[in-house]
Amino acid sequence: MKRIITLSLLALLLQFCMNTPAMGQSARASKSKKNTTTTKTAGDMNTFINDLLSRMTVEEKIGQLNLLPGGDITTGAKKESPIISLAAEGKIGALLNVKGLENLRQVQETAVKRSRLSIPVLFGMDVIHGYETVFPIPLAQSCSWDINAIEQGAKIAAKEATANGICWTYSPMVDIALDARWGRIAEGGGEDPFLQARIAEAMVRGYQGNYSEENMMACVKHYALYGGAEAGRDYNTVDMSHVRMYNQFFPAYEAAAKAGAGSFMTSFNVVDYLPATANKWLIDGVLRKEWGWNGFVVTDYGSIGEIIKHGLGDLQQASVMALKAGTDMDMCAEGFMKTLGQSLQEGKISIDELDQACRRILEAKWKLGLFEDPYRFLKPKRRATDVYTQEHRTAARNLAAETFVLLKNEGGLLPLKKSGRIALIGPMADNRNNMVGTWTVASDDGRIASLKEAMEKAVEGKATVAYAQGCNFCSDSLLQQAGGFYRPTPFRDGSQLMAEALRTARDADVIVCAMGESAEMSGESSSRSRLEIFDSQKALLEELLKTGKPIVLLNFSGRPTVLTWEAAHLPAILNVWFGGSESGDAICDVLFGDKCPSGKLTVSMPQTTGQEPLFYNHLPTGRPVSEGATNFSKFSSNYLDVRNDPLYPFGFGLSYTTFTYSDIHLNGRRATVTVTNTGLYDADEVVQLYIHDVVASISRPVKELKGFERIHLKKGESREVTFEITDDLLKYYRPSMKDGCIDMSGPMDFVLEPGDFEIMIGPDSSAKHLKKTVLRVE
Ligand code: BGC
Repeated sequence: MKRIITLSLLALLLQFCMNTPAMGQSARASKSKKNTTTTKTAGDMNTFINDLLSRMTVEEKIGQLNLLPGGDITTGAKKESPIISLAAEGKIGALLNVKGLENLRQVQETAVKRSRLSIPVLFGMDVIHGYETVFPIPLAQSCSWDINAIEQGAKIAAKEATANGICWTYSPMVDIALDARWGRIAEGGGEDPFLQARIAEAMVRGYQGNYSEENMMACVKHYALYGGAEAGRDYNTVDMSHVRMYNQFFPAYEAAAKAGAGSFMTSFNVVDYLPATANKWLIDGVLRKEWGWNGFVVTDYGSIGEIIKHGLGDLQQASVMALKAGTDMDMCAEGFMKTLGQSLQEGKISIDELDQACRRILEAKWKLGLFEDPYRFLKPKRRATDVYTQEHRTAARNLAAETFVLLKNEGGLLPLKKSGRIALIGPMADNRNNMVGTWTVASDDGRIASLKEAMEKAVEGKATVAYAQGCNFCSDSLLQQAGGFYRPTPFRDGSQLMAEALRTARDADVIVCAMGESAEMSGESSSRSRLEIFDSQKALLEELLKTGKPIVLLNFSGRPTVLTWEAAHLPAILNVWFGGSESGDAICDVLFGDKCPSGKLTVSMPQTTGQEPLFYNHLPTGRPVSEGATNFSKFSSNYLDVRNDPLYPFGFGLSYTTFTYSDIHLNGRRATVTVTNTGLYDADEVVQLYIHDVVASISRPVKELKGFERIHLKKGESREVTFEITDDLLKYYRPSMKDGCIDMSGPMDFVLEPGDFEIMIGPDSSAKHLKKTVLRVE
């Protein structure tokens, strides 16, 4: 407590020293006094903001609603950069993706010293999976099912980002993604709402903490349903029932809102044919009223401008619709900036609506302590001590190792021995700048080890590593270029690469293939229509197989890959996603058995792309085909040419050890299993609980994840794992009842309907691995 008071006083003093020389006039001096707060109660915040709002002009209020991209910050002697001029006029509420403390400080000093009311600027950035210490991509992180480690990762990201002046991150992305063609599946936690909700809460906690100077504000995105893009094509139309929204897509947003996320970002898509940014039901109705959330809403990049393209009017109309829907800040469309003044004069919006939006943004700045100390996140000292530290790197390495999913391990090929001659082959084998994955804004790639470098270090003095690139990512150079984007890989002569690889493989004891996608083949604007391993890689694998040497495939990917052929022909497959800045070491930790693989899929891996969208928690259909069916069944819901099951189901992942599960012991609402480590390695297991509502008022999914626990068991050890089946786990959303019938036009109710519930516990979601019992609820 004493420390907090001392810090507050210090902040006050600092604020005073910094403002005084620039003030001079009495208006400025009085404003400077008003801009300092020492205690942080909601009452104080309201008093402070009421006062500030009462002194703001309409232009200044609109200025707060304006979020601009960084651009040129530097200010020469003759010409001032537009950003600086706007900051001086109080016409910037926030800036996005500007790097460098000096740049940010220049903007902040301008806003504080030169603008009439000294309102500080908010600095935002896409810190999606770490800052300079890069954690695995979010999809990979979810495969760890390690909520504490994910929270810790967010905390570290906040510490590093705030040391670099960033106090607002556009993360977590909690969009449920059912279609692996959609590239942004990489940025979220997979296909399951329950798991995604727990991750969302953890990330909000990790980023925001108690808004200390090592915390940043979270921005939950993309509200809403962005992951439901038709045909998995980015930015495409979304059209879904409210039942699916509430049960499958909304829970993670709701959890993040209830965890206290400071801000939300609207999505590009339409919701009920209305762009999310202009959808009052979605923003003011569901988010604010139903969930009781009180943060501020920012659009996605240029979304107000895109309302025009959706066909709803011109920029003025789009801006009016957005503001009235409850959107507070305009990211980069400048619709608010350019048109709200006129709309106010014409009576199209009210001053109360403008004040409301402005108030919410000022509240965010207040919560972040920016009025108390506008330079709170701009202290160069922390830059040297708090970034890319050994502690942070170890946390990233440990989490990365937990995200890898062992899909196949025939004959116990893995872990590899650190001996003999290892051929390391593939376009990801020595590709340092592609290790971190998509959406990495601040990594210093020069410091990151490639897999080859990490492997040479891991086996030094014990084994030799012979490297060959072996192939391009794909034989289509234009596709490789498009998928390279920020992180290009030079395109080389394919037959020469192949010859080198075969020469390298000839003398090897084992071949490790580092293949898959390049980092930017998933993420924003990276949808794919074919999810198979690329042609050039498959051709190389076929040739390598002919050598007769054992092959381990390390599959780098930002989405589920179709591995049907690989699973049939290769003895070992480890899916390594994109594991961040420490992924080279983390892969070696698992490959050589220093750590046991423990990741479990949070997305279903299809047998073929045509199965997409593919997800385990689907409805039964009126003509169901049972799980595991091996033959085509006429007049049932299945395909002629492929069975319905995924190649690898949701929740699946092998270990170097083996686990057995006892039957479920049900005691009232407590379901217990005993899990035993029956293999030869100490290891972690993710125990999963699924529930199926047998008879309900509307059709319910065949099963839904409702609990999980990550446990550590030494070899031979057993442990009881108990899940408490609370009412909330049995409830679901459906339209309300009227006259004994479902009223599709009525509001959604969250109901528990008495009857039988199948309780299933096991190592993954497949029926053959789950223990089952029935819980009767009267
Ligand atoms: C993305 C957002 C991101 C924003 C700002 C948009 O294109 O959809 O996820 O936060 O850009 O960089």
